[in-house]
Parts: sequence; C-alpha cells; structure tokens
Amino acid sequence: MAKFEKFGEFLLKKKVINRKTLSGLLASQRLVKEKIGTIAVKEGLLTEDELADWLAEFMGIPLFDKKFETIEKGILKTVPRKMALKSGVLPVGTDKGGVLLLACAGPVQMSILQNISRMVKKQIKLVLTTPTRLKKMQNLFYSMGYDTSITLAKNSDIDNAGFVIELIDKLLLRAVNMKASDVHVEPGLDDLVVRFRIDGMLAKAETLPYDLANKFISRLKVLAGLDIAEKRRPQDGAFYFKPESLDVDVEGVNVRLSVLPVVHGEKAVIRILPPHDEIIHLDSLGMEAALLESFKKSLTSSHGIVLVTGPTGSGKSTTLYGSLQMLRNETTNITTIEDPVELKIRSVNQTQINSQIDFASALRSILRQDPDIIMVGEIRDSDALRVSLQAAITGHLVLSTLHTNDAPSAVSRLFDMGAEPFLVASSLRAVLAQRLVRVVCPYCGQWSETSDSELSMLRVERVQLPQVKRGKGCDLCNGKGYKGRSGIYEILMVDDAVQRLIMKKATSEQIHDFAVKERGFKNLRKDGILKIKEGTTTPEEIERVTME
Ligand SMILES: [Zn+2]
Repeated sequence: MAKFEKFGEFLLKKKVINRKTLSGLLASQRLVKEKIGTIAVKEGLLTEDELADWLAEFMGIPLFDKKFETIEKGILKTVPRKMALKSGVLPVGTDKGGVLLLACAGPVQMSILQNISRMVKKQIKLVLTTPTRLKKMQNLFYSMGYDTSITLAKNSDIDNAGFVIELIDKLLLRAVNMKASDVHVEPGLDDLVVRFRIDGMLAKAETLPYDLANKFISRLKVLAGLDIAEKRRPQDGAFYFKPESLDVDVEGVNVRLSVLPVVHGEKAVIRILPPHDEIIHLDSLGMEAALLESFKKSLTSSHGIVLVTGPTGSGKSTTLYGSLQMLRNETTNITTIEDPVELKIRSVNQTQINSQIDFASALRSILRQDPDIIMVGEIRDSDALRVSLQAAITGHLVLSTLHTNDAPSAVSRLFDMGAEPFLVASSLRAVLAQRLVRVVCPYCGQWSETSDSELSMLRVERVQLPQVKRGKGCDLCNGKGYKGRSGIYEILMVDDAVQRLIMKKATSEQIHDFAVKERGFKNLRKDGILKIKEGTTTPEEIERVTME
C-alpha cells in the first residue's frame, strides 16, 4: 500500500488536505483497507471528479474525456470481459501509434498490465476516469456488446426448454440495452413477431417460427406466476428479470406482463419498469427556466388543483412523479390513487385502483385519512372530478391529469364534465400541457441548413431558424438518429384575471388569447421551436407531436 500513502503525501504537497486530515485518512485506511482517494471521496473531502484530476496528475496519465462516453468499435473484444472487470479497466480505443487505451479509475498493478499487453500483442496506455463512470461504462458496453442475436440451427432447438429460456433472456436483455419500454410478443398466422417500443415508437425486433409461440408464452407465464393452462382469459403478472442463462454481468429490472387471447394464440406485452424510487428531477425534464419556476410555484400552493394534460404517452405521469418526489418530506402526508402504479416512490402512500373500488370512492376514503397532497392518476368522470374539486377547496393540494390537447382547453373540459365555474375558478392553480419529443442522437447529430418545407411547416422565417440539428443514425442510436426523449411544455397560470374569465365561462380561445396578450403565454409549438434551435429535436418531431 506504499503507493497510496504516497498519494496521500501528494495531496498534502498540493495543499488539498492538511497534515491532520492525512493522519485521519491513514487511520481510517487501517480500519477499512481502502484507497486513500476513495476514503477522501467518501468523507466528502473531494468529489470523484476532483479525485480523478489529482490522480491523473499523480500517475502521470491523461484523463479520459468526460463527455466522451463512446468507445471505438470492436475494441471490447480485445480484452475478455471477466479479465477487464477483475482488473478494473475497460478497453476504450487505440491511439495513432496503435497503442491500446485502457480506461481505469486508479492505479493498476504492473503485472496485470503486462499480462494484458502480452495477450493483445500491443503496447498499453492508461487513461483515467472516475470509479462511477468506469462502472457505468463497463455495465453499458459489456451488456451492449453481448451478442443477443438469435440463430435457429435446427428444429430440435425449439423443443429444448433451455433454448426458450435463453431466447427470452437474450430478447429481454436486448430490449433493456436498447432502452425499450415495452416488448410485444405477437403470434401471427405462421410466425411469432417480437416488437420493441423505443422512444415511443414500435419496431420489429425478431420474427420467430410460429411453433415457438406456445413455449414462449408459457415460459413468460411461469416467470410471472400465471396459470399456464388458462388460455382464454386475459392475465396480468409481474417478475424480476435477470438474464441468468447468459454469461453477462447486468443489473436486473422489474417487468410487468400482460397476456391476452388473440385469434392465433396469446399475445404478450412485457413492460420494462423503471427502478423503484428512481429519482425524477423536474429540472431534467426539458422545462424552460421561467416555465419550470411557474410550475414549481403552483406546486407549493397549500390547496387547490394542478393539472397536467396531454394525450397518452406524453409523459404526464413522469411529471407528476417528479412533482411528488420534490414535495415529499417528513411532515407531509402524500397519498395517490393510480391505475396502475407505474413507479413506486418512498414516503408516499400509493393506492392502486381495482375492480372493487373506483377513483371517486377511493378518493372519499383517502380524504378521511387526513392527506395534505393527493395525486389522482387521472380524472376520468364527473364523479371523480366533483370529489377532486371538493378536496381542492377544503385545504388539500390535488395533482391530476386530463386528456386535453392544450392548457387553455382544460378549463372547458372541466365545464363539460359538469364542474361549476366558481369551483373551477377558486380551485384551479395551473394547467401544464406537454408532449414528448425524441432527442437528436448526441453521437451522430450534426447541424445543417433548415429546408424550405420545414420553415413553412413551422411557419417561421429563415432568420429565426437558420439551422437544424439532425442525426444520420449510428450504432449508439440503433440507426435511428434519435436517442432518448425530452418534453415540450406550455403552462397556464391561474391568477385573478384568469379566474374572472373562468367565472364568466370564457371559451378556451378567449383564455388563450388573454394569456398570450397579457401574460406572455408561449404555446407548445413555440416551446418546440425553441427546442429545435437548441439542437434538442427536429421539425419533424415537433410537427408529429403537435398535430391537432
Ligand atoms: Zn446516433
């Protein structure tokens, strides 16, 4: 360990720590047997990035570019996965002289480096990154690099139980690696089609022989604890997926399975769920600063109702979950009524609707439990609306969603559902409308001139939008040119003047026009154009999601 004591001395010499702190660190080191740098980070003396900076200087090696989270094609194969994981390195590329670059997060034993060098028949150079980033890259690239292609050598494969298990493991691993949200398994006339939904779009992933259908669905049912013999009724279940049959080191995921009888057998949909209590920061959902501030302000109201609107799949629940995570604390009782619970979050009482209880009656029971904040998954009928508004004017903050295209029309939707204008006016705090757009792939996105048709489609002048960023498709975005999604938003804040309009039963247009003229209201399309300017998304995406 002499070397790490020297790193301690190095930090002392650089005045990062003083003599007293160093003695403390050395004392801790004798107890926990970890590296000085690791302990310093754990004790909050340094961040991981600062540690990497100092280590790079200490070891005399360059830093691995922080933004550079992509690696050279085919480079993974140079060092076997097990060896790389054990040695704490990751092959990331070769330099101009053909030297193999290995990313590490600290000193690596000389003997290990000599072994790798002999094996790959190349000289080796280390580049430094943080432990978190190294772990993340190892996870990502080794599981992505895992060959999930499926080959059916002979018919007997199909009868082999192990084959079906491995087939499902490979397909689900591929879905997880590709960040799919759902996997559809659909028996057709003479084949079994597997499709993935990625960034909101369904695409074919595999076509398998029809003979596999039965075994495939049965295996899924076993995993989810469903009745294999029951083939005439829809069934729902859940399981924890980890590809045990494959030699790959990845974290498991929770999935929900639903099976539905169709003409040619049973169709299965597997939903890949986010990790429990995955933290959703409202700041990271793509809301522009002023809008984010208004939305957060509406969430701090002691009572009233805040609505998030948009069609199915527009990211409304993500926004609500992020809001609840922001609002939760020890002194607040937060209760939800959902159908179904999509993300389990700590310190929040989540209730799931079932066939015995509807939204309105669940809400009435919850009100007897002294909640401060109530999240109603969706206001579906006038009954649920009546109870929600009642709760909102009697000292509770109610968060919910509605199916309307824009924020101003939420008001008339509430009227249509039978709400009294004075109730809406006195309870409604804000309406946020949103859509999800696909984000231009950061690896292959490039700026180019905006076309005439794009300008006319968006109804903007060339000077307003001279360039657009587009992805031409690469390995890291599955050739799509897009990677991940972000939101576009508009918000209607209900102040005194808007309240008066609501009392007068003003139309959506009147409310919209007032908000534009007097409150600088920016609609979804305007926000979308802003996102094109920033290079987040493309005109096609904005057109696709804002078409009425
Ligand atoms: Zn790409």
